[in-house]
Amino acid sequence: MTEQQAAILVIDDELGIREGCRRALSTQNWFVDVASNGAEGVQKLRERPFDVVLLDIMMPGIGGMEVMDLIKEIDPETVIIIITGYATVDLAIRAIKQGAYDFLSKPFDSETLALAVRQGLEKRRLSLETKRLCQIEEAARRLEEEKAQLQKLDQLKSQFTLLVAHELRAPVAAIQSFLKLILEGYVPPERHMEIIAKAERRAQDQLALINDLLELARIKDRERQSERAWVDVAKVLRETMELMTPQAEQKQITLAVEIQPDVPPVHANYKHICQLWNNLISNAIKYTPQGGHVSISLRQAGEVIQGVVQDTGIGIAPEDMDKIFQDFYRTKAAKEFERMGTGLGLSIVKAILDNYGGTIQVQSEVGKGSTFTFTLPFAVPIQPPAAD
Ligand code: ADP
Repeated sequence: MTEQQAAILVIDDELGIREGCRRALSTQNWFVDVASNGAEGVQKLRERPFDVVLLDIMMPGIGGMEVMDLIKEIDPETVIIIITGYATVDLAIRAIKQGAYDFLSKPFDSETLALAVRQGLEKRRLSLETKRLCQIEEAARRLEEEKAQLQKLDQLKSQFTLLVAHELRAPVAAIQSFLKLILEGYVPPERHMEIIAKAERRAQDQLALINDLLELARIKDRERQSERAWVDVAKVLRETMELMTPQAEQKQITLAVEIQPDVPPVHANYKHICQLWNNLISNAIKYTPQGGHVSISLRQAGEVIQGVVQDTGIGIAPEDMDKIFQDFYRTKAAKEFERMGTGLGLSIVKAILDNYGGTIQVQSEVGKGSTFTFTLPFAVPIQPPAAD
């Protein structure tokens, strides 16, 4: 703001004061406008910014104090100089306590007026500068925060890459050593098939890991998240049950399912909902010994739908509870009980639920079984309201 560009508004009901101020201030190369009452003054302030307002505190219509509040509302940095008669000095002091910058007692000469306005303009310049510096400081602080977040993300990404490379190396290294055993003649021909079968199993592990990694990456891919439709979660559950039945029968595990009627659909990617049920139910079957029981339920609970998968399996130790959702984490007990597993199934479940604002909780007791409870929010009623 330069002084030439400064704009001053005089709000006074006395024509003499208004015009006197206009004359005196115009010689300073300032833009000067006048208003004969509070309402007109406020209107002018709404139309364009003014740096300094000379305000008569005693005017008919809206009271000076009220006008002051309105001016501050429009632009808190406007400098207000009160014009006061001898009898209203007390009022002017009150106005200063309320945020006015200075006061001029009538009558005043043009030098006094110009000096007060010049000081007011300097005050405004300093306040605006301070405000600008605060904003710059705030922006710098935000940038610093964002930078720290990005660095953290970058670090997490590197850790994940290392972890992936490590997990992918293990099966390849195993396959290579099996093949070397044969190639270098350490294994008699009658054992070749056995060693090749072992290598093939490790290749299967590798493929499962790569598939899960791809799935996880797809779920976290923001662009694909737009592929959503209304999904009937109960129907997907029934389909998953059909798929899982042979696996359960093989281990003589009984499956029970309870679905509340009219569970509302969720707006989601169909494949994600399949994956959600599939991973939780296949884990329940996988980690439950022969002859056990797995029960699944689905219901609406207020603003969410709630799915529960309960088993009578090996359970999870309290110290492992927080870790089972981490990428690649498999408990020692799980590895001993079932060789196959990538440690990514629950990471996928968690990523899917995170996508849709869902939650998941686990309750478990070692040797007794586990209960996984998830929720998914739904946004609209099951059926549109009937037309009257
Ligand atoms: P994976 O089953 O391939 O090992 P997940 O990510 O699906 O990987 O599960 C991570 C770990 O959580 C499992 O290795 C196991 O230790 C534990 N877990 C998951 N579901 C169950 C369950 N129903 N019963 C017992 N442990 C489970």
